[in-house]
Amino acid sequence: MQNLKMTEDIDIKSLLTGTVNHMSDYLTGLKDRPVIPTGEQLEVLERLSFQLPDQPMEPDQVLKFLHTTGSGGTVATAGGRYFGFVIGGSLPAALAANCLSAAWDQCAGLQVLSPVGEKLELVAADWIKQLLQLPMQSGVGFVTGATMANFTGLATARHTLLEKLGWNVEADGMFGAPELQVVVGEEVHVSILKALSLLGLGSERVVKIPVDSQGRMRADAFKFDDKPTIVCLQAGNVNTGSIDPMQQLIPMAKEKGAWVHVDGAFGLWAAAATGYRHLTEGVNLADSWSVDLHKWLNVPYDSGVVICRYPEKVKAAMSINAAYLPPGTPGPYQLTPGMSRKARGVEAYAALLSLGKRGVSDLIERCCRHAKTLATGLEQAGFKILNDVVLNQVLVDFGPRTEEIIQAIQQDRVCWVGGTEWQGKRAMRISVSSWATTDEDIQRSLQSMINAAEKYV
Ligand SMILES: *Cc1c(COP(=O)(O)O)cnc(C)c1O
Repeated sequence: MQNLKMTEDIDIKSLLTGTVNHMSDYLTGLKDRPVIPTGEQLEVLERLSFQLPDQPMEPDQVLKFLHTTGSGGTVATAGGRYFGFVIGGSLPAALAANCLSAAWDQCAGLQVLSPVGEKLELVAADWIKQLLQLPMQSGVGFVTGATMANFTGLATARHTLLEKLGWNVEADGMFGAPELQVVVGEEVHVSILKALSLLGLGSERVVKIPVDSQGRMRADAFKFDDKPTIVCLQAGNVNTGSIDPMQQLIPMAKEKGAWVHVDGAFGLWAAAATGYRHLTEGVNLADSWSVDLHKWLNVPYDSGVVICRYPEKVKAAMSINAAYLPPGTPGPYQLTPGMSRKARGVEAYAALLSLGKRGVSDLIERCCRHAKTLATGLEQAGFKILNDVVLNQVLVDFGPRTEEIIQAIQQDRVCWVGGTEWQGKRAMRISVSSWATTDEDIQRSLQSMINAAEKYV
């Protein structure tokens, strides 16, 4: 009978060196492989399923097996030709920091559990606030992504508004609580609706404000009742990339005493880019903001932040009581729904340090430039672009056969784009969100899109 070896018996260096070889083998292969797996590669994945063996397997064998059997079944989102959803790649420094962080294996919820985890989060948080030009006194919670950031921001809004009315929602719940009104745009992101449903605020009990032709909330239609209100604005419409007119809407909402939460999952990064900053003007007047790090900052999954002007309110909304955690025990967990978690600040810090302010701005601007090149190229080939390409998102209308054309482009496997339903129309949706995308990637992808489309029109 074979016993599990202790760490000192395993040649950790050769295991990790072997793993690094698998990693670089994978990454250098991205350039030439299809963006989505072929049928054959999907069949290989079947080799991964069998009864768990009785006997242990050597770690280097496990890794070799994972690489040879699993790597072909990935979607090449780490490469430069994936334009589906809004998916960032992984910056080299962030990827490498992710490896170091795995060796550290920190539980970053508590300061006593990870001084470095807390420190890196605090510094990365300051850098993010500076880049996005948000109030420096704000608290920042590192969460899995914008969905949880929206949840945390809205939980803080709920806490603050109900506290003002003398209601302790954390203790007494929503049964019998004073009513809150929630205002969203007609093109609100589904994750806001999910957060509202988790918070007992109801995903359908919302006032929907009409939007303009780009999906932005209309200031002239920004009307709601005079009662305690949470207003959810959006920086980065998931289809068009458009940003709500913050400078007009936030003062109007504030006038009525509302809490303003901004879902800025990807679009708020415009505030860090010299040529796009003007689109977000006035966004710093809000109370809370959600931003993804795994999308446009190109930090590995999963990573996002909630930023809130009033850190004490987030702490109150997220408070937790345990005998082994005296109230006020310092630590990043105070600003998030979770307790134990990975040290997300490590990759965020590494990504930001490797880019510098200039690099962040360039990353955003480069993606936007690529989006414009695709839009112009498709337009010149005779296809219709549905949105004003103000950021990194492009919507394409190929006519009645749009859906078949999207399928054909996906099957060509040079790039990947998804479909969407937007303002009553089926459209192809392009999102350029990766540092890895080159001019050559854009030209190859454009050619693939045009070739596929021309077969149908
Ligand atoms: C992606 C996205 C979300 C959800 O973010 P996750 O990181 O997937 O949780 C929320 N809002 C907008 C506008 C998004 O683009």
